[in-house]
Parts: sequence; structure tokens; C-alpha cells
Amino acid sequence: MIVAVGERVAVVPGGVNVGVLRGDHDRLVLVDTGINETAAKKALKAAREEVGGEVVAILTTHGHADHFGGNHAIVRRTDARVYAPEFDEIFLRHPLLQPALLFGGADPVDSMRGGFMLAKPSPVDEVVKPGPLVVEGLEIEVVPLAGHSPGQVGYLVDGVFFCADVVLPEAVLEKYKIPYLFSLTNHLWALDVAGSVPYTTAVPGHGPVVDDLSGLIDRNQATINAVQSLILQVTAQPSGAGTIMTAVLAHFEHQATDAPSFYLLQPTIAAFLAHLHRMERVTLTIAGNQALWTAVAGS
Ligand SMILES: [Zn+2]
Repeated sequence: MIVAVGERVAVVPGGVNVGVLRGDHDRLVLVDTGINETAAKKALKAAREEVGGEVVAILTTHGHADHFGGNHAIVRRTDARVYAPEFDEIFLRHPLLQPALLFGGADPVDSMRGGFMLAKPSPVDEVVKPGPLVVEGLEIEVVPLAGHSPGQVGYLVDGVFFCADVVLPEAVLEKYKIPYLFSLTNHLWALDVAGSVPYTTAVPGHGPVVDDLSGLIDRNQATINAVQSLILQVTAQPSGAGTIMTAVLAHFEHQATDAPSFYLLQPTIAAFLAHLHRMERVTLTIAGNQALWTAVAGS
């Protein structure tokens, strides 16, 4: 069940991959905990039985429910200390903020209050920032990967790079077409950062462990390029964000079938528009009580 990827580093594969780091005196450190109590119990059992020792800390990569949803269950059983990145740590303590953010900043509809949208709250004991971090004798580099979430980080330990959701595997790209983004501007920078980290093995948040991230980085970058050029085509005529989203999804022949999948896409399109605006490739005009985006000629 557990896969060794380094001398002191293992992975419990799952919907979200959970890292298990062996610190001094068999004190174990998890990287993320999965979506809920079931995932957390599976990871805890694997860590205790297959690595040996007790979990004393959790390193959270970002404030999305599928990555920290198991924290409360681990903390209740082990009293582990929770480390979480700046900004995203708020989402651990107040998980309703994530669906509220997706729902345009308002009290979200009930169908967005479960599953991968809303986790149980997690305590946060330490706020981490990019740079070196020592936990239980393990020398860790905290890698800034903001973009997919406001403060996402990766953790590099013994040459193993837990790179969270900076890249998504083919299966996820195929299913969602346009992966969720908080900031495209930051995410493009994060893709560059991820490509320059000196790892020997990379563990993405979802999908298989890889020796080389460059194929995944290229695949994720290609999706971004396709969405950007579609948006520029659609906004040849002044268009509202809703119209732009519908047109882009029609191109991908994608149907959002429920509130969570629809409301994940809305801010993602906004992240693209904000980036294109920052690059002076689209303009934003407020007229007739509408926000209209227009491609800059020749952009
Ligand atoms: Zn995520």
C-alpha cells in the first residue's frame, strides 16, 4: 500500500497522495491527509504499520478540502501539529471560505457544502513560508507554488518534491478541461519554479509519482495556452465573463453538470481574464451595468 520513494520518504497513493516522512526517533510527518476521515485513517494505518512510529506533524500543501480534509481525524488520534502555508491557513481554520470564494463571495448553496468543497476545520499550529524549514530533524525546503490556490507550497525533502497541484495529471485535465486556478499570473510563475526545483522524484498531489515533471508541466501549459487563445478569440467582440465561459466550454465540448463543477470554472475564467488584463491583452469596460472584456487588437 505504501510506496518508498526515498530513504526517509514514502507515499500512500490515493485520490490525494499522502506523504509519510520519517523524522528523528521514528516521529512521522505527513504531507497532506486526504479528503476525509476515511482517507486519513488509511494513511495513518499505513504510516504506523508500514513505516513504524507515530505521526507528530502534518505539512499541508494548500487550503483545498481534498488535501486537508483528513487533518481533523489525524489530529484527534495523534495530537499532531499542523503546518500550513500563509494565506491558505485561513481556509483550514474556516473551510466554508473556499466554497464561498467560488460562489462569488456569498453564502454558498447547500450542494457546495460537502465532498471536495467543504472539509471539517483543521487547527493550524505553525504558518509556513517559502524557504528552509526543519521539522523533527528533517531538513525541508518550502517551495512557493501559489496560483492554484492563493498560498500553495510544495515541500522538498531528501530530493523528493511534493509539488501539490501545480500540475494535474492527464486524467484530471481530461475530466475538468480547465483546471481550477486562483491566479493565472502566479500559477505561470509556479510552473517555472516547479521546473527548476532540484528533485530526483516528484510526488504530485494527484496521480502517479514521476522522475521528471517536464512532460506534465508542458501538458498543463498547453491547456493554459489553449484557453488563453480561445478567450482572445471570443473577446474579439466585447463579452461578459459568463458568455466567455460558455464559449470556451463549448469549444472543449465540456458540460458542467452540477453547481460545484460550474462554480469551480467561473473564478478560473476570471483568473485568466485578470491575467490577460494585466498583460494588456484585454480591456475591461463597465457599461450598461455589465462588465465587458474586449481583446486588444493584434494581441
Ligand atoms: Zn487543490
